[in-house]
Amino acid sequence: MTKPTWLAEIQNWIFDMDGTLTIAIHDFDEIRKELGLKNAPILEQIALLPSFQQEIILQKLHEIELNISMKNIRSDGALEILTFLKSKNLKLGILTRNTQASITETFKAIQLDGFFEDEFLIGREFVPHKPSGAGIIHLMKLWNAKPENTVMVGDFRYDLEAGKDAGCRTIYVDRSGEFPYKNLADLQITSLTELLELLQK
Ligand SMILES: [Mg+2]
Repeated sequence: MTKPTWLAEIQNWIFDMDGTLTIAIHDFDEIRKELGLKNAPILEQIALLPSFQQEIILQKLHEIELNISMKNIRSDGALEILTFLKSKNLKLGILTRNTQASITETFKAIQLDGFFEDEFLIGREFVPHKPSGAGIIHLMKLWNAKPENTVMVGDFRYDLEAGKDAGCRTIYVDRSGEFPYKNLADLQITSLTELLELLQK
């Protein structure tokens, strides 16, 4: 694969967590079933419920997610690419629809503690969630960064839509190599190892 010229300009790296730095183990259909929800995005469905019901269901979701966090497995190349980016003194952030507590548990489980400063870990508590680009814009403000020097790396449509919404570059990781949302991606890769190899070219 040829290295896109814009890649050398990227100084600000924002990663999705689940399925990007980890191997996806969330079965969202199963989670929806457990929560008694329909086949639609989970957080958006919960937001439409009366507030007393939201609290109960969010607590249940939180328990399910924490349980998953502890079983997470690090994806190929995740440690290596973060080590590489950090050695170059580049900015590193996380933007996830998961909770702050799950980020902490996940990073413990996959041993990626210490790469990210706490204020650059943007979880569910920050609204609006992806696919809004608000979380990316928030990080860019903290970093005094420009969109053309910023990239969102993720494995799902929401990650790429958030990147486009914020006006930054997008890198699409799809282990299957099928890339169903490729129209939203500036670069497609099948693993973070592949991305690291490109960066080192
Ligand atoms: Mg993901």
